[in-house]
Amino acid sequence: MLAHSRNCDMPLYSPSFLEGRKDVVTVTPWLAPVVWEGTFDKDLLDTIYKPKNITVAMTVFAVGKYVQFLKDFLESAESYFMLGYRVHYYVFTDQPEAVPMVTLGSDRRLTKVKIPGSNRWQEITLGRMERIENFIETQLINQADYIFCLDVDTKFYGHWGAETLSRTVAAVHFGFFTRSRDAFTYERRPESQAYIPYGEGDYYYGGAMIAGLVEEVYKVTKTCRMWLEIDKVNSIEAVWQEESHLNKYFLYNKPTKLLSPEYLWHGTYHTDVVKIVRFTQVWKDVSKVRPN
Ligand code: UDP
Ligand code: MN
Repeated sequence: MLAHSRNCDMPLYSPSFLEGRKDVVTVTPWLAPVVWEGTFDKDLLDTIYKPKNITVAMTVFAVGKYVQFLKDFLESAESYFMLGYRVHYYVFTDQPEAVPMVTLGSDRRLTKVKIPGSNRWQEITLGRMERIENFIETQLINQADYIFCLDVDTKFYGHWGAETLSRTVAAVHFGFFTRSRDAFTYERRPESQAYIPYGEGDYYYGGAMIAGLVEEVYKVTKTCRMWLEIDKVNSIEAVWQEESHLNKYFLYNKPTKLLSPEYLWHGTYHTDVVKIVRFTQVWKDVSKVRPN
């Protein structure tokens, strides 16, 4: 008999005591969960992850005029991001003195990492792969268990907790979760290392979030950095820079967990499907904030 054969008052054939979601894909064909509101029990997850005493690193880059996004980013992260866990922010910036003083919760720290500025935004965004790779190799590998690499022109608006932890985690891009693979803006030129032919692809992932175990994110950044170098030698820049390479990486190295667009939204409005906005890109006038 299936029911009641374990120490739980739910029958084994019940998928969960949660209602679940019938309106969205909640598991990929390779059996990775897609995290949506209504698919997890946050308190239950905390009883699993809190005793593990994990350290969560977060990298964020704020170079040039992008330092203006730091205050909202950090303050909102203090309200919603991995509350109750040990969190260590690493702010990569050319202006350490411009990093705002934000009151951090107990067990939360911030370290500034000085890096040079640049007059090409593409160089800043692409350069993140190499810098994160080096930083993991030289420091983080022994200092943190999980890492989140996030864009700074963003803000948290809702709970972001242990449901986002896994070996490798990618966020489904808000612009493409209802579209079919041939509409994805993958790099389509075979000359680029990021090339993905039509007919292939699972999802389109946003470049504003990479996460997972530190050693796994190390592999992501190292591989993408190598591909970026090859592209540079061949004088080609992928259509969406590092996002294109990330999509190629995750096509052939499937993420073990996907975050729904609740975790990488654009604006604060809700939809029938996105019932809660947890993290969103903030509007920016690129002509005013980018160096080129
Ligand atoms: N960035 C930066 N300074 C720049 C350009 C980019 O610090 O002048 C960093 C910042 O962390 C930003 C990320 O690179 O969030 C990605 O760039 P951007 O947000 O402009 O790309 P988009 O999200 O618009 O594709
Ligand atoms: Mn961004």
